[in-house]
Amino acid sequence: MAGLFDLTGRTALITGSTRGLGRAIAEGLGGAGAALVVNGRDRHATETAAREMREAGFNARAAAFDVTDEAAVTAIFRDLEAEGATIDILVNNAGIQHRQPMVELSLADWQRVIDTNLTSAFLLGREAARRMIPRGRGKIINIGSLTSELARATVIPYTVAKGGIRLLTKGMAAEWGPHGIQANAIGPGYMLTEMNEALTANPQFDAWVKGRTPAGRWGRPEELVGTAIYLASGASDYVNGQLIFVDGGMISVL
Ligand code: NDP
Repeated sequence: MAGLFDLTGRTALITGSTRGLGRAIAEGLGGAGAALVVNGRDRHATETAAREMREAGFNARAAAFDVTDEAAVTAIFRDLEAEGATIDILVNNAGIQHRQPMVELSLADWQRVIDTNLTSAFLLGREAARRMIPRGRGKIINIGSLTSELARATVIPYTVAKGGIRLLTKGMAAEWGPHGIQANAIGPGYMLTEMNEALTANPQFDAWVKGRTPAGRWGRPEELVGTAIYLASGASDYVNGQLIFVDGGMISVL
């Protein structure tokens, strides 16, 4: 059974893996045997993360680029190919949050949130699939959110982007499933990462999360790892277009 989850010989590109959920997912996939391509915008942070992963025994290389930059995304896939690396597993994780009432929101901020959280998954998914289709296999994991399912005030562009991730994932499954590619999504609940620093420091919000989550606590980034390995491995070869919530049960009661 252990072989079912073995990622030896596979290469995984995880966007936004310098910290937080992406980093935990990268280290989890590395632990299952995958070679890692680590990404963030900050070149120094990206190289540091990749070096730390190598020091921890993983096969990891750095690829600093902005996931919203079409030319940069195209170039990175070309560069990886030139180095002999083919992406078997793509995790579209990079994302940003922006809290503001919609009536105050600028078009630029709307666009930035949509581009980072949704359009990036199209850009990277397209490049990955162009190479996975001829090989007849590939795994794509898109990171959604509780807001893939429901709206929350003051984060509407984020909600729209994460809702879009849900249908983009189904679309990828519909178009690329016949070519042996599985695209699924993970919907994390409220997790302890830098993105949520202001929320965890707010006693009212902290109490709300703990009170409304059946698990009674925030999630830890490493709690996504099992689901990520499952969706990246042969264990999920007949699972396509799904969104799995890893949220301590919160989506069921919100
Ligand atoms: P963090 O802010 O902790 O980390 C975000 C990562 O994404 C960093 O590595 C950051 O690096 C990178 N990143 C951001 N923008 C870009 C970009 N344009 N191009 C390349 N890399 C980028 O976030 P989390 O780990 O908390 O969140 C990860 C994902 O999980 C996001 O998609 C988020 O929406 C989702 N999520 C998080 C939840 C949570 O509770 N934390 C809940 C539900 C979903 P750099 O700044 O150097 O670019």
